[in-house]
Amino acid sequence: MGLIVQKYGGTSVKDAERVMNVANRVVETYDKGNSVVVVVSAQGDTTDELIEKAMEINPKASKREMDMLLSSGEQISVSLLAMAVEKLGKPVISLTGWQAGFKTDSHYSAARIHKIDKERLQSELDKNKIVIVAGFQGLNKYEDITTLGRGGSDTSAVALAAALHADLCEIYTDVDGVYTADPRIVKNAHKLDDISYDEMLELASLGANVLHNRSVEMAKKYHVKLAVKSSLNRNEGTYVKEVDQVEKMLVRGVTRDNDCARIALCGIEDTPGKAYQVFALLSKHGISVDLIIQSIGNGEKKDISFTITEGELDNTVKLLEENKSALKIDDIKVKKDVSKVSIVGAGMVNNAGVATTMFEALYNADINISMIATSEIKISVLVDQKDAERAVAAIHDKFML
Ligand code: ADP
Ligand code: ASP
Ligand code: MG
Repeated sequence: MGLIVQKYGGTSVKDAERVMNVANRVVETYDKGNSVVVVVSAQGDTTDELIEKAMEINPKASKREMDMLLSSGEQISVSLLAMAVEKLGKPVISLTGWQAGFKTDSHYSAARIHKIDKERLQSELDKNKIVIVAGFQGLNKYEDITTLGRGGSDTSAVALAAALHADLCEIYTDVDGVYTADPRIVKNAHKLDDISYDEMLELASLGANVLHNRSVEMAKKYHVKLAVKSSLNRNEGTYVKEVDQVEKMLVRGVTRDNDCARIALCGIEDTPGKAYQVFALLSKHGISVDLIIQSIGNGEKKDISFTITEGELDNTVKLLEENKSALKIDDIKVKKDVSKVSIVGAGMVNNAGVATTMFEALYNADINISMIATSEIKISVLVDQKDAERAVAAIHDKFML
């Protein structure tokens, strides 16, 4: 008996039958004597459909209005789920993010949670109610609705678990847990029994969208016990834990991220301070850069290439074009159809052979690498997007079989 936060994603509540399935699972947990707080996402593809509706009217709609629109998807699911629980005869209440006390900053479409005012939540829990909270949304200081970024309901759930000191936060989705690769891409990927916060954070940040990366960051910070499970069966899921409690495997997962674009600045003056000037300009405009390479240069000219997310491409190119002559850049080249493919594992620290094995897998599959980045627990390479799924499968086969 304790306090359990459960989060159900879009596919888990996509239609009436699935909503009833979730209601039954929630009531089962409640009937065991637990206090239950449930976070739900918008049904099925609702969020994508709302974005399409907006694009039909104004592709340049302000982020404030986009958040107003997108938050409506979750409001539908919480009320439907509450009605389903009512039907099962249990006390229940649905709350929007703002009714549940979510206070965020004003970064529309990618807001961060500042705090959760718990009074309302606590008073409903004290009345023994099952509390159903809309994920992905909060309120900023202007009392405007904000959203937490795509996939953000996971973060809503972990934030609630942290604020309420829950005994467990369960993320229910359409796969059995965290796999060694996206099971939709790699058919022989296998489920991990457990994974460390750090490894999960890397996987999530590098494209394994089974968990929102900020939810993992928060779980680690507040020591939230986190489990990823399927809402469609009773299989054991994956537990996300402290590093010393998990099995140490060299490589735990392979991911790909298609949301990147490469910019090459060709023929920049080969003098001290050029890299600084370029990246200072980008960071001043809030553009975050990911992989970077610089050619050796010949004393006169050199090239610098880097990747950014596709959403930042237009702004970044515009900014660089405006500063092209000031920065003394000969040419700016853009490539959109690239993907970042990464391997993650806490066991790869001090293991020189890992990179070699990864590169060999790509060589055997005849896939060209255009950039490389490494850290203690990950190695990322940039490849053509058309090769990305094959790259994931080839690397997965090499390490996991
Ligand atoms: P939800 O709607 O429940 O939040 P998501 O679509 O956000 O579900 O996340 C679940 C999906 O994440 C899975 O269907 C799977 O295709 C994808 N995924 C990507 N990488 C992984 C991985 N390493 N392990 C498990 N699932 C993954
Ligand atoms: N509904 C939102 C999305 O599709 C949030 C979520 O599902 O976590 O991104
Ligand atoms: Mg998700």
